[in-house]
Amino acid sequence: MRGISIDADVAVVGAGILGLATAWTVLQRRPDAAVVVVEKEPAIGVHQTGHNSGVLHAGIYYAPGSLKARLCRAGKEQIERYARDRGIPYDANGKLVIAADDDEVPGLERLAERAARNGVPGLRWLDANELTTVEPAARGVAALHSPSTGVIDFRAVCDALAGDVRAAGGTVRTGWPVDRLSGNGPVVLAGPAGAITARSVIACAGLQSDRLAGTRDVRIVPFRGSWYRLRGPVADRIRGSIYPVPDPRYPFLGVHLTRRIDGEVWAGPNAFLAFARERYRRWAVAPRDAVDVARFGGFWRFAARNLAAARREFVHDVSRHAYARAVARYLPGVRAADLERGPMGVRAQAMTSDGSMVDDFRIARRGAVVHVLNAPSPAATSSRARSRASASPRSTRSASGSWRCTGTASGTSSRASCPDRACRSGSPPISFPQRRPRAEPNRRRATIDRRKTRVAPRRRTRTAAR
Ligand SMILES: Cc1cc2nc3c(=O)[nH]c(=O)nc-3n(C[C@H](O)[C@H](O)[C@H](O)COP(=O)(O)OP(=O)(O)OC[C@H]3O[C@@H](n4cnc5c(N)ncnc54)[C@H](O)[C@@H]3O)c2cc1C
Repeated sequence: MRGISIDADVAVVGAGILGLATAWTVLQRRPDAAVVVVEKEPAIGVHQTGHNSGVLHAGIYYAPGSLKARLCRAGKEQIERYARDRGIPYDANGKLVIAADDDEVPGLERLAERAARNGVPGLRWLDANELTTVEPAARGVAALHSPSTGVIDFRAVCDALAGDVRAAGGTVRTGWPVDRLSGNGPVVLAGPAGAITARSVIACAGLQSDRLAGTRDVRIVPFRGSWYRLRGPVADRIRGSIYPVPDPRYPFLGVHLTRRIDGEVWAGPNAFLAFARERYRRWAVAPRDAVDVARFGGFWRFAARNLAAARREFVHDVSRHAYARAVARYLPGVRAADLERGPMGVRAQAMTSDGSMVDDFRIARRGAVVHVLNAPSPAATSSRARSRASASPRSTRSASGSWRCTGTASGTSSRASCPDRACRSGSPPISFPQRRPRAEPNRRRATIDRRKTRVAPRRRTRTAAR
């Protein structure tokens, strides 16, 4: 099919959940637009979207005011509504973040305050006895309960979105890798399968996003996350998700457990450098991917600062006994024999040349191309809200050939790292619908009052619209 040329108003690169949600959003806004999604793999949703924990995050962890915080809550509501409309099962089976000992309580209090500022609904502070009424198998000195956290199969969402895009007249082409983007509008997408000319392009290329965008100072560093499946009587007693208090020095969430929508209980994922971006065997090596990491100074700066965490993650990766001990801190009785190796996924984590992980979602545009440069967890939860940001017509109209930052990070990555030279620290994002911020909840109400909270009877809401 070499040489076939299709004209499109909007071309989306990548048929993961973000690309498909974006195409669907464009078609909902402009039903007459010619929209094409191109995906290099033979099937849709096979990378991050098909290899994740499936947690519908409620917005507990994210810096208040960040895109993650804003889009997670809105996106969760939207994806739940979408799931109900399309008959995709999801389960609000709740989450406990547990302080295993007194030393972890201050960290849990900080997290509770942050979650309250983010407006996470239904939060409860539980003491050692109360937490066992939510998760009878768990132990700890205190816990934060988020009853609205849920689980879903994001791949099923992806399939439904692809169906909607096609039904609305859009095209989803698999086996269509894009090697080059050229021109400032129209843009030519070229690859071995042919060329497409589009008025504007939205690139949601996940683990390949830096390569497609040609960024040098923001690079994707792939982090592998491997799961264990929990078996045996302890697994049967897990009701929802159980997380530790996260180490604030480290961006990943620590050893946690999730009862998934299919009923399995997964422990993990851990986080360790991957030597291949898109392969799902533990020690797979793709020479180009490994060399790219080795040549990127930012990675070595990051590694030097995180040696202890890397050692811990490595030990958890190779030793089931060590992993079982970590789980047993808040789930007594778990033994190595209860853990069985499960699947793995690879996170597309953007990192800057000074060795900082880009914490927040990041979108940038160059001419008529919008690039999603950083969309780690909770981007699947946020995907419907996130797609509105990337599909904003304002972000696709510029004729300029230079980078414009359209989604500033929440102060965690350096100004120098932004590909947009005109970006000023603290400048407002320019391509997001500017909504009036929700009124900051009354500080007294926003802070969880540990004396007044009561354990609500556990609501097991199987919210599937079948
Ligand atoms: C281990 C792990 C656990 C996670 N857990 C959760 C969770 O519980 N909850 C949550 O909300 N989020 C979670 N996430 C994050 C979530 O999975 C991702 O944020 C989300 O899937 C990103 O979607 P995407 O469409 O951007 O990327 P992807 O799903 O990776 O899709 C990108 C697509 O672009 C295609 N592509 C790339 N380059 C090209 C090219 N040149 N031409 C054509 N096509 C191209 C790829 O083949 C791919 O299909 C997790 C992620 C991982 C890895």
